[in-house]
Amino acid sequence: MGEANKLGTEQNPLRVAVVGSGPSGFYTTEAIIKSGLAVEITMLERLPAPYGLVRYGVAPDHPKLKQAIQVYEKIAEARPFRFLGNVTVGRDISVSDLSRTHHAVVFTCGAETDRRLGVPGEELAGSHTATEFVGWYNGHPYYRDREFDLSHEVAVIIGQGNVAADVTRILAKTVDELKHTDIAEHALEALAESRIREIFVVGRRGPAQAKFTPKELREFGELQDCASIVDEQDLKLNPQSELELADKNNAGNAKNVEIFQRFASQDGGAKHRRCYFRFLKSPVRLLGESRLQRLVLEQNRLEGEPFAQSARGTGEYEELPCGLLFRSIGYHGLPMAGVPFDQRRGVFANDGGRIMENGHVVAGLYAAGWIKRGPTGIIGTNRADSVATVGSLLADLEALNSGESKAGAEGLYPLLAESQVRFIDFAQWRRVDEAEIARGEPKRKPREKFTRVQEMLAVLG
Ligand code: NAP
Repeated sequence: MGEANKLGTEQNPLRVAVVGSGPSGFYTTEAIIKSGLAVEITMLERLPAPYGLVRYGVAPDHPKLKQAIQVYEKIAEARPFRFLGNVTVGRDISVSDLSRTHHAVVFTCGAETDRRLGVPGEELAGSHTATEFVGWYNGHPYYRDREFDLSHEVAVIIGQGNVAADVTRILAKTVDELKHTDIAEHALEALAESRIREIFVVGRRGPAQAKFTPKELREFGELQDCASIVDEQDLKLNPQSELELADKNNAGNAKNVEIFQRFASQDGGAKHRRCYFRFLKSPVRLLGESRLQRLVLEQNRLEGEPFAQSARGTGEYEELPCGLLFRSIGYHGLPMAGVPFDQRRGVFANDGGRIMENGHVVAGLYAAGWIKRGPTGIIGTNRADSVATVGSLLADLEALNSGESKAGAEGLYPLLAESQVRFIDFAQWRRVDEAEIARGEPKRKPREKFTRVQEMLAVLG
């Protein structure tokens, strides 16, 4: 390739399509722009609104975490950035359309579905995934019409990670604690009528292995009308767990156990709700006539070396009456037509972010974030991850320069027009954003989200 035709120059800008507008999508965009090359980025998002899990996953009562959006807005202001919201890749636009019009495609579409428990009764009415509930209270259009029967007194959350913490807190908080957040109006109304009194947060391993971050766990000691309770007996640890806690790289888990100790030393007082942290128990069956009525839990013991301890059933069972259950045991990516998928791990098959098929690199396709490495880490983790993928992409620059000219977003507009897809650009999104903020003002909420795609499109006339 001659010098004049070098990729990443004014004459031949590097054109990259980024699929998904969550943290990894924006960090990928940022890293490409920071390369100093002449670039153009087309970001595609299936919803009219950007920001993925920051908008639709982060809990409404954690506004500080949403400040990441201010960083993403700055990135979006960069000249070579184009946002195409309300466009579903794989339906409105194919992966080959993107490859034809861009030098590279980076998938940052996250892990969209939940892992399954794989136990009988999992599908009974009253048993839900955390994803559904999180999407519902955050006003995600796909979950807008879900219904959760909050008329029962006992709810169970399976899993002890930060998503379980979010779901539990939303159930445990009073309306006063939530009403000035950006929680969706329909959720606040339903939660105001909630009769839930007891919430059991059930972990298959012990208190030393809970995956909460201490900051999130500590919040359970600060709830207005919900006491957090741990049975002191449950805090007796096996020697392997003691060794785990003594490791200085495991300070977070040691802090968690300290916090659990504090919860064990208090009684619930006069608080109206109770949140019980239970350990070493696995759900083996959900029971009920037409809907969930009881959960069968098997007692576990830990087996294995420190940091590799797993839960083994002991054959002892107990039944817990409950009317509502949320499975919060981690996410799983979904496949997309035209991209090799690793079914076991729930990620797009890749090596250092380069998409792989049968041991070979698929030229021009990359992944970053949860669809690359699986659903772990906090928002900021995705920054380094995206930088690493962009590093691979930039190292491939010569190979990406096929010599054919690539039209970038301009090449997609005729396809979208042909299939009558009404896409939203970033300026239009800003109008929707402003309208949401204005709707929130009278209620002293940071915003009142539009929870239906049609409502967002209606703002634009
Ligand atoms: P997670 O941290 O991986 O927690 C999953 C939980 O489910 C663990 O307690 C795990 O137990 C349990 N589990 C898995 N399979 C199970 C099974 N078959 N039966 C019973 N329990 C099972 O996942 P997450 O809560 O979905 O969170 C995903 C990521 O997002 C995490 O990195 C999290 O920190 C992050 N996040 C952060 C925030 C925040 O910063 N505020 C908020 C939400 C999410 P084992 O340990 O035994 O596997």
